Amino acid sequence: MPVTQWSALAQADADALIAFAQRLVQTPSLPGHEEEVARLVEQEMCQLGYDAVTVDPAGNVVGWIRGDAGPPLMFNAHMDHVDPGDLSSWPHPPYSGAIVDGMLWGRGSVDMKGALAAMVYAGGLIQRHHLPLPGDLIVAAVVMEEGGGVGTHELLRHVRPALCVVGESSAGCVMRGHRGRTEFLARVVGRPVHASMPELGANPHYPMARFLARLETLPMEADAVFTGASVAPTLYRTDQSSPNVTPGEVRLTLDWRSLPSQRMEQVAAQLEALLREGLAADFQAEVCIVQNRYVTYTGRTVELPASFPSFLLPMDHWLVQGAQRTLSQALDRAVAIDVWRFATDGGQIAALGIPTIGFGPGDPKVVHTNHEHIAVTALVDALAGYAALASEMVRAPL
Ligand SMILES: [Zn+2]
Repeated sequence: MPVTQWSALAQADADALIAFAQRLVQTPSLPGHEEEVARLVEQEMCQLGYDAVTVDPAGNVVGWIRGDAGPPLMFNAHMDHVDPGDLSSWPHPPYSGAIVDGMLWGRGSVDMKGALAAMVYAGGLIQRHHLPLPGDLIVAAVVMEEGGGVGTHELLRHVRPALCVVGESSAGCVMRGHRGRTEFLARVVGRPVHASMPELGANPHYPMARFLARLETLPMEADAVFTGASVAPTLYRTDQSSPNVTPGEVRLTLDWRSLPSQRMEQVAAQLEALLREGLAADFQAEVCIVQNRYVTYTGRTVELPASFPSFLLPMDHWLVQGAQRTLSQALDRAVAIDVWRFATDGGQIAALGIPTIGFGPGDPKVVHTNHEHIAVTALVDALAGYAALASEMVRAPL
């Protein structure tokens, strides 16, 4: 298909696409509360003529467009969003879906209801115009990505695509990977006493403080693509609520950003050795990966480690090159190849051996801020891009 036609086809659907993205933004869907947005996605897929639309036990909405016998391609977008914070601090209310000067405002407009709307409409566009589809297209709208990756974890139990495009914002680039993210919990247990007689106890603040000082100068593995792994202490808690009692236990959360080569069990052991360095016999100390328990809006309980893998496809991987070529032709502009700064559901998809890339509209720098907004032209651009990727990109044989 000649260059301009993808944009023209997308342009013809622009009003409906933008209105759908606006309805999604106007419908709050914090993690575990995506029911209403899920219903909107399901209805839209049905109206757009998807061959099958299912809602799985975790509440993920999965739409199918049947294609030829080639490898099935999944478009992956999450339906939840982070908390909007102080509502009055937004230039336009976070659930208004206001369109001002060509910008759609609101929580989730970039992360990632804009991409979700464009992916849903890409399936509809292909179906309505009977465009070629080398293999099935699976459009997955998942729950509870923010902080947990729960929806995609549950989805992959029953849906196994051969390749995947994650729609997290990429500023129009093709993303080939990101660092991983793991939460570690460092615990030191001592002996609590009346704070007037501290010499009788074993105060765990001190060994934890020495650990923090050592952590600050811990050599981190370097890397040319991601610039290196990193670690940041985030939360700190004690087991006491009285200011005149020394704690029996302190807990420190660490946010670790990993490289593809790093094994998190090894990192935990390394951190535990650092914590135990010179530890007096009065104390016990350990470092483990945080385990979380989630309940989806459908009532399903899921326990998962707070550990999200890194992934990286080589620059010359056929999917990276194929996506760049397809997108630059379809959108008639240069499309760069890059990596994300943040972690996505792509890590757990790639960890199953499924080649995965990212392509999503909007500026990643406004994500999780109180000025999240997206150009409506970027939504139309994304629709053209997704439709071209599904229909035209050469899919390597299984
Ligand atoms: Zn996101």
